[in-house]
Amino acid sequence: MAVLDDFTRRIAWASPAWLRLLPAQGAGTPLPQLEQALPGLAAARAVETETPQCLVLGDAHEWRAELTAAVNGQRLLRLADRREQGRALQRQLDAREQLLFTSRVLSVGEMAATLAHEINQPIGACANLLRGLRSRLSRRGSGRLQEAEAQALDRAIDQVMFAARVVARIREFTHSHQPRRARVDVSALLRATAPLLDWDLQRSGTRLALELPEGEAAVCGDEVMLQQVVMNLMRNALDALRTDPPPEPRLALRLLRRAGEIELQVSDNGCGLDDEAQARLFVPFASTKPSGMGIGLSICRSFIELHQGRLWFSRNGDRGATFHVSLPTITP
Ligand code: ADP
Repeated sequence: MAVLDDFTRRIAWASPAWLRLLPAQGAGTPLPQLEQALPGLAAARAVETETPQCLVLGDAHEWRAELTAAVNGQRLLRLADRREQGRALQRQLDAREQLLFTSRVLSVGEMAATLAHEINQPIGACANLLRGLRSRLSRRGSGRLQEAEAQALDRAIDQVMFAARVVARIREFTHSHQPRRARVDVSALLRATAPLLDWDLQRSGTRLALELPEGEAAVCGDEVMLQQVVMNLMRNALDALRTDPPPEPRLALRLLRRAGEIELQVSDNGCGLDDEAQARLFVPFASTKPSGMGIGLSICRSFIELHQGRLWFSRNGDRGATFHVSLPTITP
């Protein structure tokens, strides 16, 4: 704060904090010079008032100020740097985000440990039963029906094996609390993941577009976790297409390469989200589906944040939703 003297037309006194903000405007500075440094002050000083005035000063409105009524020709001017307040707010928001992230990881971890424990046995049993069935079928000779059955069994085995890999990964993660850190080519990962949903795509008549750049898109991370994220986003897209089927259901997996990062987009022309659903999108246990658990996106976001990446959502111009995942790349 500083005391402005209307008689001498100078700054009569300036506090140390004021001098840190405006080192060139100490005691003795002519008021016209101060008014030049703080556009808006001259107009405020011209106002005769009994009560303090709250002001926003500066060329870029960077100062929040309060100017008291004159007593014996002197007024007190209190000044605060709005940019500093903005930075403080940003620091507060960052800290809150960090806290939410930590609690998300913890709740995901606890839930994951329980689930992994409970479903490990039935998954193993399913895998064995399906493999047994598959080998019995192959001994029975060939024929069109057998071929279709064999294909369906192969798909079922692929799904069960994926589930088994996820469970094994969860068990490992709950011990180490760290994702694996290995080189993962996201292009190859997308090519390998799409066929796992062949059956669902066919059944819903959805056309899948894979838009991948040439060559490798390498990130450092945990292949199974990243595959889980892709599967979750694709399954959500298929659900959205089922909820309100368009004439031509489409699902696109797009991979964009940028300096230092890749962006994966999972886009559908399904039912999309209204404002309320959008606001609750990443809130755990918020689901608009009758049998939904509402934790898929929250888990996906935690997994991506564990990879120093980001997961966000945008509305498509025409219809449906796009989910975006950005991940830092590693140089070849
Ligand atoms: P769940 O699928 O069990 O509901 P999620 O966390 O994966 O849990 O999704 C939360 C909610 O987000 C869904 O219930 C749905 O309302 C919405 N949502 C997610 N993906 C999409 C999408 N592609 N299109 C429209 N809504 C979506």
